[in-house]
Amino acid sequence: MKIKTLVMLICLVSFGVADAREIKAKKTNPQSNYAATNQYYSNLISGATPNVAELNLFANMLPKGGDIHHHYSGAIYAETYLDWVGKKNYCIYSESAEQLKVEKYRIEIKPVAELGERAGQICISADAVRKDNTFYRELLMRWSDKDFSNHFHEQPAPDQQFFDTFGFFGPVSNASYQEGLQALKDRAKAENVQYIETMLEKSPDVDNRELAKKINNLKSDATEDETEAALIEFSDFMDGDAAVKAKIDDYVKTLEEAATGIDDAAFRLRFQAYASRNNAPAKVFSGLYCAFAAAKESNLIVGVNIVGPENGHVAMRDYSLHMQMFRFLNQRFPGVKLSLHAGELVLGMVPPEGLKNHVREAVEVAMADRIGHGVDIAHETDPDELLEVLKERKVAIEVNLTSNSFILGVKNEAHPVQVYRYHNVPFVISTDDPGVSRNNLSGEYLLFIARYKPSYEELKKVAYNSIRYSFLSESEKLDELKSLDKRFTGFEAKIAKLARSRRAK
Ligand SMILES: [Zn+2]
Repeated sequence: MKIKTLVMLICLVSFGVADAREIKAKKTNPQSNYAATNQYYSNLISGATPNVAELNLFANMLPKGGDIHHHYSGAIYAETYLDWVGKKNYCIYSESAEQLKVEKYRIEIKPVAELGERAGQICISADAVRKDNTFYRELLMRWSDKDFSNHFHEQPAPDQQFFDTFGFFGPVSNASYQEGLQALKDRAKAENVQYIETMLEKSPDVDNRELAKKINNLKSDATEDETEAALIEFSDFMDGDAAVKAKIDDYVKTLEEAATGIDDAAFRLRFQAYASRNNAPAKVFSGLYCAFAAAKESNLIVGVNIVGPENGHVAMRDYSLHMQMFRFLNQRFPGVKLSLHAGELVLGMVPPEGLKNHVREAVEVAMADRIGHGVDIAHETDPDELLEVLKERKVAIEVNLTSNSFILGVKNEAHPVQVYRYHNVPFVISTDDPGVSRNNLSGEYLLFIARYKPSYEELKKVAYNSIRYSFLSESEKLDELKSLDKRFTGFEAKIAKLARSRRAK
């Protein structure tokens, strides 16, 4: 062997040893794990077609922080509801019968023996449903969005389909809060989610005919003073009424009992109290009053919301009045956080004028801390200036991609998450109703990643936003952020290892 070749060989061997040492050192180094994760992720999203199969794995493992736009009853899968129908010995109508006023797929909570002969024959047990594969599949399709788009069947409009599902599983949705929350916690933990802020049950409302009349009879052009006078009177009554206090206490107790034993070192659950927006004004107001009062009373209730189809006739008619109610109640119950469903609308769903003011009023009149959906942003009056307001005030948008795609038909490049991203308005990724949508939070992240290809840094920021913009107390947030740091360190170590063992193409 020539001396020159020998020297080269020695050099190569010693280089190899040094290289191996370096790699070993890198394995335990968080910075290099971060770099490797960043590189691996960037490769998966690069090119015309993202590597969705591997991104799916990545999204499942990704620490996602919290799910902070989440409806309990819409999060439970239809299969679980059917189990509860069985446990409660309820039955389900296998056909409609107009003269009996019963409808196919509806739950009957009366015992079969009390139904009468004909109704008893067509109301079948959960077991019988499962044994009839065709009916079982049809039932899942009516109780959720399952198979809506992948084959032809008789179907209502998508938004109708979506909201109808709540009526189908409604009779059994409150059957077992503890069991349901436990199931949601198990699901969350399995997909690296540490926090859920859910809407479990609507707050109670209060009936007082005389005072209600004054609110219900407010004209659409009522002045702020006229509106406030009506609200003060009803509010004063509720302040001093023992029966109202008892209702609020009962509500708080229900929520607190439901959450018993749920929090642990790796998971936290909190509630938002809410009212439904498609009711008479006084009913909405008293519901919101109770929601605010409950939030003041319990540390587990961290915010207030308003829900229901925003394009409903009443919701559209009373929108501004509802926002004034929030403004009024903010003063009565200072410090209560608000996340408001606002702007869950698209052109064509309502006349263009109806798209002009919902996000604006939620932020400027109701003083919302977060906005649910915010899909109509491009149609709002002075949208450029409104984006500034959202950015400056740090009002986070809760982005629900699957829900928006199904209910509103807004997806891909048309989704306004692109507007929020490029105008630096904070946002989070959330599920809305993962049971009805047949999805989970990882699935929502996968959509976000595969569609919009955010950088790894942006993706991490979005996950952190779900804790930063949550309604937890500041000290709880710090705890959860520390936990999220740890989760990311572990995640990046795993992904770095996965990337090293990946076969080159
Ligand atoms: Zn929602």
